[in-house]
Amino acid sequence: MTQELDLWFDPAKCLINGQWLSPSGGQELPLSDPSTGACIGAIARGGAADIDAAVAAAEAALAGDWGRANAVERGRVLFRLQQLVLEKVDHLARIEAIDVGKPLKQARADAVALARYLEFYGGAADKLHGQTIPYLDGYTVYTLREPHGVTGHIVPWNYPMQIIGRSVGAALATGNACVLKPAEDACLTALAFADLARQAGLPDGALNVVPGLGSEAGAALTAHPRVHHISFTGSVATGVHVQTAAAQNVVPVTLELGGKSPQLVFEDADLEAALPFLVNAGIQNAGQTCSASSRILVHRPRLDEVTGLMAARYGALKVGPALADLDVGPLISARQESIVSGFLDRGADLEKAAEGVLRDVPEGGNYVRPTLFAGVTPDHVLARDEIFGPVQVIIPFDDEDEAIEIANGTDYGLVASIWTRDGARQMRAAKKIRSGQVFINNYGAGGGVELPFGGTGRSGHGREKGFEALYGFTTLKTVAAYHG
Ligand code: NAD
Repeated sequence: MTQELDLWFDPAKCLINGQWLSPSGGQELPLSDPSTGACIGAIARGGAADIDAAVAAAEAALAGDWGRANAVERGRVLFRLQQLVLEKVDHLARIEAIDVGKPLKQARADAVALARYLEFYGGAADKLHGQTIPYLDGYTVYTLREPHGVTGHIVPWNYPMQIIGRSVGAALATGNACVLKPAEDACLTALAFADLARQAGLPDGALNVVPGLGSEAGAALTAHPRVHHISFTGSVATGVHVQTAAAQNVVPVTLELGGKSPQLVFEDADLEAALPFLVNAGIQNAGQTCSASSRILVHRPRLDEVTGLMAARYGALKVGPALADLDVGPLISARQESIVSGFLDRGADLEKAAEGVLRDVPEGGNYVRPTLFAGVTPDHVLARDEIFGPVQVIIPFDDEDEAIEIANGTDYGLVASIWTRDGARQMRAAKKIRSGQVFINNYGAGGGVELPFGGTGRSGHGREKGFEALYGFTTLKTVAAYHG
């Protein structure tokens, strides 16, 4: 194991019922560094038996101390965990940077966001109320918000800390016990987080982590008959598997599946304000972001100006190893590199407006040049498919109706933004765009732990983040008392 990671736990183990356990099959998976391509250790290859043990541990936690903890106590555990995360922010950032390949400052922002999720959901735990409902004479009717029970969390490799924060944070705040299956490509901060949760006083079994392959541990978790809710973030294809498996047990699922998110730049846009958002939203985390803005729709009168300004930024983008902390790091894996390179090849017929610069990149790392294509038509494959790499296309439009039609013209609907000074246009476009989030004269609003997030269409369904997530992680019971 590389010294640089400085792990305080064995990554080749699962954390089940508060114990570090080797996977029951005794198998491991290689741990590789995306910046160099080198194998730097091993992680556990958990399977169905480990998932079964984790579910049993979660059930025992619900029957024990964790099930008895009241909302205030649950919130306090999350606050203590927040403090432990904050104490280890730099260490967690370094682990994530090496494991995922993200530039250090982006990994640090993720660790800070994880702490903020814990603060938000810790504070929300005792503020989730039922209602009283006026009803027939002689009745008192009220609703109770109750935890589902055992919740399954399947997390991808692109933002492990943030996604764990938003899903496990909300699930624990509402009194569920969790089984977490991190991605095989990036599971280290999931294990670190669960160990910190133990240190914060979370009872054994309330959070269990079983790393492993999606087709093994992941499939076992989604098909498990005693799991009561599944939260999944990842690809559309896997989301369909997850929803199909959960349907056999009639279990609710939250799916967050990515997008092809547009930014609409109208002729009256403040370009100076827009420019950093236009580019950063496409290249952050090397474009491996579900809410990446991969389509820039530009009103024709400003087309040349926007293309020129964005191209200048692209030309200055530096790409290198995560710890060099440049603008863009490597992609997560050789497989992802080949997917993104395939898309770049399919863009050979397009006008390449600009590319970023590779800076001292190790031979075996998974690097691609960030690439901006201009003058793209909405029907081109690069304008329709999720690429999940640092690639953006500029698509011209002539009027507002056409802009909305192009914005709504993919299978996805996760995030959109509108750049215009015209207040009426802001309101009209925000209503007409089919998307889980719409931003006006910004993109992403700084991450927004408080802001409900999720998609329409193939971007998925259900909402995470914000207070809204607490409804998803609870089930509503109506109590009707007749007292005459
Ligand atoms: P994936 O959807 O296969 O993996 C995401 C998670 O699901 C991982 O933890 C994986 O182990 C698990 N998983 C895989 N198969 C499973 C199954 N049958 N049952 C249960 N869990 C399973 O994504 P990937 O293969 O890592 O990446 C492929 C593509 O997915 C990317 O190119 C990108 O387009 C997309 N993606 C999207 C997001 C997002 O945030 N929306 C995140 C990662 C990947």
